[in-house]
Amino acid sequence: MKKKFLVLIEDDFEIMGNGLGNVADLQYLPALALMNIAEKYGVKLTFMVDVAHQLTLKKFCKHPEVKIQSKLWAETVQLMIERGFDVQLHLHPQWVNSVYKDGYFHLTDVWNIGRLLPEEQTALIADSVDYLESLLRQVRPEYDVCAFKGGAWGLQPSTHLMSELGKAGIHIIMGPCDGMVVKRQGLDYSGMEEKNLPYYPNHDDLTKIADASGKSVVIPLQSYSPDLLTFSKYIFNHIFSGLISKSPLRYYHSGSIPADIRELKPLKGKNDFTLNLRPYRTHLKIGDQPFSYLKKSFDTVIGKLREYDAERIPVLIESHTKQYAQNYRDIERFIAYIAENYESEVEFGDMSGYSKELQDNPNLARSKK
Ligand SMILES: [Zn+2]
Repeated sequence: MKKKFLVLIEDDFEIMGNGLGNVADLQYLPALALMNIAEKYGVKLTFMVDVAHQLTLKKFCKHPEVKIQSKLWAETVQLMIERGFDVQLHLHPQWVNSVYKDGYFHLTDVWNIGRLLPEEQTALIADSVDYLESLLRQVRPEYDVCAFKGGAWGLQPSTHLMSELGKAGIHIIMGPCDGMVVKRQGLDYSGMEEKNLPYYPNHDDLTKIADASGKSVVIPLQSYSPDLLTFSKYIFNHIFSGLISKSPLRYYHSGSIPADIRELKPLKGKNDFTLNLRPYRTHLKIGDQPFSYLKKSFDTVIGKLREYDAERIPVLIESHTKQYAQNYRDIERFIAYIAENYESEVEFGDMSGYSKELQDNPNLARSKK
């Protein structure tokens, strides 16, 4: 008998959005720690790997310092499969048309894949799926790409994008989170017809449920707004860890970071805050939050989802290993907390497993009919 809640931890395996950081520091070491924690508690994970970054590293491999990061990226992602975890596709389009100059990658301000030219979307998706499948079939011959999460949650406009993802065999789509708006990137998920359960989307407007079931399914990020006490603890923790380390980047940059990189702020104006008693609007996340915050967020969202009488509900948790540095203990406590306290109603899954469940039972996702 399957349990009611299927917790899907999806880790966005990437460096900083502006191209700063190093594979060794922000990806390899924290992903290794997360795999160790997951193994200890028997938890499944899906690493959503940013292949746009890796394709760029490969393009600039004549620089030895880039080549070594590219090799470490590939071997780390193979290690995930060797250790039995799932790997799926995440793409940050700002790497397309980026350049490497004087030791820095200079990225663009196109952070929503839907805003790349149609031919750029087509090439990026096809090249990424080819690359990932040939890399991972060396380790697990039956490996397939089946799931995609848009970088910076962006997927709009969606018509061409959905068609290209479908051609590449991708049918699980992530990014939409009710109420999220980033005007600068043309991203608008206000008023989603289905906020919490998986659904078959209208390919021309992902915020709408399709009339009939199809191939692609959106798993929404369930939103969460902490109460003021929980939010204050989060802020306090943020300030406190900021005092310990002056910069989120532990890799030393000699001299000052070039101005075009420092000034790149494509998500400015994202509507995280509103004027009410729960001013901060977000979704389930693991990254730089203290245990008390993580526990409260999970308890609250599960409490809300218990009201649905659906037989199987995926609970999507977005993880960012690049933010883990000072929070490993809190993250381990949180994963242990779910594994030990929710045993009767929660199990952990991954995207490949859920993809099979959906194929066996299309009624797990909603359509209008
Ligand atoms: Zn990302």
